[in-house]
This record gives sequence, C-alpha cells and structure tokens, in this order.
Amino acid sequence: MTVYAAPLREMRFVLHDVFGVADKLTALPGYGDATADVMDAVLDECAKLCEGVLFPINQTGDAEGCTFKDGKVTTPKGFKEAYKQYAEGGWCGLTADPEYGGQGLPEALDCLVAEMIGSANLSLGLYPGLTQGTILALGALGTPEQKTYYLPKLISGEWQGTMCLTESHSGSDLGLLRSKAVPNGDGSYSVTGTKIFISAGEHDMTANHVHLVLARLPDAPEGVRGISMFVVPKFFDDGKQNAVACGSIEHKMGMKASVTCVMNFDGAKGWLVGQPHKGLAGMFVMMNKERLFVGGQGISQSEVAYQSAVAYAKDRIQGRAATGPAHPDKAADPIIVHPDIRSRLLLARSIVEAERALTVWTHMNADISHKSSDAAACQHAEDMVGLMTPIVKAAGTGFGSEITNSLLQVLGGHGYIREHGMEQLVRDVRITEIYEGTNTIQALDLVGRKLGIEGGRLFTGWLREVEATLKKLDGRNDLAEFTGPLKDAVEKLKSVTTWMVEASKTDPNARAAAANDYLRFFALTAFAWMWVLMIEAALAKKNDDADFANAKLNVGRYFMQRVLPQIGGLDAVIRAGSKPLMAMAEGAF
Ligand SMILES: Cc1cc2nc3c(=O)[nH]c(=O)nc-3n(C[C@H](O)[C@H](O)[C@H](O)COP(=O)(O)OP(=O)(O)OC[C@H]3O[C@@H](n4cnc5c(N)ncnc54)[C@H](O)[C@@H]3O)c2cc1C
Repeated sequence: MTVYAAPLREMRFVLHDVFGVADKLTALPGYGDATADVMDAVLDECAKLCEGVLFPINQTGDAEGCTFKDGKVTTPKGFKEAYKQYAEGGWCGLTADPEYGGQGLPEALDCLVAEMIGSANLSLGLYPGLTQGTILALGALGTPEQKTYYLPKLISGEWQGTMCLTESHSGSDLGLLRSKAVPNGDGSYSVTGTKIFISAGEHDMTANHVHLVLARLPDAPEGVRGISMFVVPKFFDDGKQNAVACGSIEHKMGMKASVTCVMNFDGAKGWLVGQPHKGLAGMFVMMNKERLFVGGQGISQSEVAYQSAVAYAKDRIQGRAATGPAHPDKAADPIIVHPDIRSRLLLARSIVEAERALTVWTHMNADISHKSSDAAACQHAEDMVGLMTPIVKAAGTGFGSEITNSLLQVLGGHGYIREHGMEQLVRDVRITEIYEGTNTIQALDLVGRKLGIEGGRLFTGWLREVEATLKKLDGRNDLAEFTGPLKDAVEKLKSVTTWMVEASKTDPNARAAAANDYLRFFALTAFAWMWVLMIEAALAKKNDDADFANAKLNVGRYFMQRVLPQIGGLDAVIRAGSKPLMAMAEGAF
C-alpha cells in the first residue's frame, strides 16, 4: 500500500521560514486575515480531510473507475460523499472573492492545499480544480449578472465548472477548432459542436455543470483570433436541461476516477464571456491557473511516491551494505543502505522540495500581482508568474513522471503489481505531462513567447532577483558550497540563452529544437536558487531544530552535486542546434 502523511512541517517551512509569506501578504489589501496562524490552521484542517477522507478511496477509486450509462456518469464508491465533505469545508472557494462566498485567502496557501489534495486523491482533486479555474475566468471576465448567478454556486462547490476547448482535430492547435455559436437575437447564442477529452464534463457529484466553451461566431476570422468564449450551463434556473450531453467517456491509462467525456453541444444555449473573438485570451485566465495547478499535481504524486518508497526501503531487507552489515541482527540489511536506493530517494526529495518552494514563490507573486497597489511591483510579480508558469507546469509534471517511475523501482517487482499502489502513481501522473498544453507546448511558450517579451524583460527581472540573493549571501563561507554552483548555473543559463536567441536569427528551428532541454536547464537553475534560499532559512533556525537543518543540508548537497550538474549535458545538447534533428528527410523515418 502507498502511504501518505501531509508534509506539514515542510510546507510551513517554505511558507514562513523561507518566504515569510504571511508577513509579505497581510500588508496587501484583502489579505489582512492571512496570518501565519490562519494559514497553519487551514493546512491542519486540509491534512485531516486528505489523510482521513480522500486518501482512503484513492486506490479503490482507481480499481472501480467511472461508469457511463444512458448519458449519465457514476463516480466510484465513496466519491460523492467525499466530494460533499470537501465542498462543505469551503475548500473550493478558498481563494475566491468573499463578495460571492469565497474565503479570499492567498494562492500561495491554496497551492499547498492543492498539493495535499492531489497527493491524497489526484482524480478527485481534479473536479474542484477545474471549478476553481472557472471561478477565476468568470470572476475576471464575466458580466455582473454572470458573476452573481454562477459564482456563488461554483464557489460553494454545488456546481461543477469545466473547460471545453479540445476537438478531435484541434488539440495543441486551437486555431483549428470548429464549434460554432450563432446569436439568438436575445443576447444568448446557440452553441454547436463536439468537444472531446472534457474532464468532469458529466458526473453525479454536483447538481449542475457550468461549461466554458470555445466556439466561433459567424463572422469570426480564421485561426486563434476568431475564437470566443461562452458559458453554457447544463441546467437552466427553471430546472430544464440545456442541449448539451455527454456522448461517451474515455477508457484511460490512469486517473480512472476522474471522468473524461465527449461532450455534444447541439444548439445549446450559451452566453458570451468577455469580448467577441477574444475567447482564447479569456480562456488563458483559466488555463494559467490550471497550468500551475497541474504542476502541483506532478509534485503531489512525487511526494506520495517518495513517502511510500522510504517506508518500503526501510522495511525491505535484501543484501548487505558494502561497508559490512548495518543490521547484523537481521538476515540482511534494509535496502535503504544501498547507494542506488538512496540516490532515487534523494533525487525525489531534492526535486520535490525545490519544486514546492518554487511553486509557493510563484503563487506568492500571483497574489502580489492581484493585490499590490504599487504598479511596478504588480508588473514585476506578473512577469515572474508569466515566466515561471510553463516551468512549474512542465518541470513539476515531467519530474513527476520520472520520479514516480524511478521510485517504483525501489519496490522491485512489488512496485509493478497493483496491490502496492506505486504503479497507480506512475499511471496517474502521466497525463499531467499532456493536458493543459503538453510539456513541449509549455517549453515553446517559454522560449518563444516568454523570453521574447520586451527584449527579455521577464528573464532579466528574474535574474535581478537571483543576483540579489547571491549579492546578499556574498561572503557567507558557510553557504559557498551552495551559492557557488548557483552562480555558475546562472552564468551558464545566461550564456545559453544568448546562444539560443542568436541562433534563432538564422535558424527558424533553433528555439523549438532547444525548447525542452532549455526548460529543464532553467528549471534546475531555479531549483538551485530555491535550495540556496532553503539552506539559508534552515541554518537561520538551526538552533530550533538541528535535525531538520541537517537534513536540509544533506538534501541540498545532493541536489548541487548530483542533480544540478545535468545542466552541463543540457548545455551541450542545446548548442548542438537543430541540424541533428532536422537533417533527416521525412521519408527516411
Ligand atoms: C485525460 C485527459 C483530460 C483532458 N481534459 C481536458 C479538458 O478538460 N478540456 C479540454 O479542452 N481538453 C482536455 N484534454 C485535452 C488535452 O489538453 C490535449 O490532449 C492536449 O492539449 C494535446 O492535444 P492533442 O491530444 O490533440 O495532441 P496534439 O496537439 O495532436 O499533439 C500531439 C503531439 O505533437 C506535439 N505538438 C503539437 N503541436 C506542436 C508544435 N507546434 N510543436 C511541437 N510539438 C507539437 C505535442 O506536444 C504532442 O506530443 C484532456 C486530455 C486528456 C487525455
């Protein structure tokens, strides 16, 4: 069996000791209540829900899956009740506007709540995860009437929100989508089209569904500039059903308790959200939130895999330590004595802790960008969120796959069989690399769009922050083994970025050829920054908790000495350019 105890100590360390989130945010309008005590109480409550209610139905939910009959979806046993508890706890509206029933707490807290919920039950957590994105999009772009009508029920979790973008011929390239919306003359539209792969499109846990649908108006220009967004409820307020129905559900590799639907809109009545033809930009309000959320899903699975692999590695006895028996009283030593097992565990832990810190930092910037009255601070914070969104998404999920897979190996053959639950983690996490824009699309966003904004304003803004850390810690000999590698990585990142930008002036494939490796390089450098900040914070509190600080030093050292050097290889791969990829003729494949 997998095991999971919410990593509250780690979460508090990042929130309070590393970033002082409460100190920074309580000064902002609307966040006065977000004190450290309130945040701790929220985390404690969430841990109880996750450990006591959501985690116990994770494996059974996977085994049973969702079923589809006569247009209706039934979620696995226990899901309806667990979701009810989740909704009644107010978790869906944790960050939502108090005017509509939300609690108005910061995203920096919510991302940790989402991580816990994902760890406990990735499938169940996706349902409200989508609702939260819908709340954000309608909150930002909806009319006052739309907000008053939809937001309270979404925030309370009584209604489910969905995002309906994908069509069979239109996935990464949304410019190809064909669904149509024709004005009815009364302010509403008739929406027609078939959407595929719609998460939570239909199920039995909520009383209504609120679909945000991308479609084209009759006069729409071609491509992404001709897409509008519509809100399409399943049921109207008189209880009548709209012309939208689930045609079938997908049979998937993982996340079997999260339903994925084909949704047929057959002249369904909907209302425009935001401006005509600006629907994709509108949907990005939701998608940016979801991309960060999905990055957290990757972390969540790595965390459970780590905890489960540690428990196994301490218990399973096979072979002897190379230095002689570590437990002579036993027939063999626990496998945690073996370097390979330790390496797998330390890789996971060094990445997860850095990712968690980076995620909190990014969400804290989102909070600042939403609430600060200082225009320059807002812009900088927004830039940081924009730059880090593809990195948090793609690195969190890419490493999520690598780590769960690597930790399955710790259990040997027992990892491969269902009973232990490790194979579920590998299957479940795999989709996170694909949905919300594949990880390649994230990497292209980073190298193509984010680096290009105003001659690299986002990148230089981020470098200023990292260099400020290095300047502050200059002369701290006790930190040199961490700051030295960070400094080196930053210089290498600057150099390879310049190389890529130059190469792309003569080679149209240069950026795309480098994209995935460049994103990983960037992520590892950002993680190195997080490790420096974490080590600094841990040493500052060493007298309070020496074991905690020593563990941080050990894991941080592992990262600097055995993970960060990967950037050397990535540097060489990036500089090889696009030729090795593009030289072979299509027919030769
Ligand atoms: C379980 C599940 C849940 C989902 N939930 C939702 C949902 O709720 N709502 C929704 O709208 N959609 C949803 N999706 C759809 C998901 O977002 C898409 O599958 C994803 O965006 C990729 O689109 P595609 O599958 O058509 O792949 P394609 O776009 O066909 O891509 C195929 C491959 O080509 C690569 N590729 C494509 N374009 C480029 C390019 N320009 N440069 C380099 N490489 C490229 C991709 O990275 C990928 O590796 C879900 C999918 C699944 C499987």
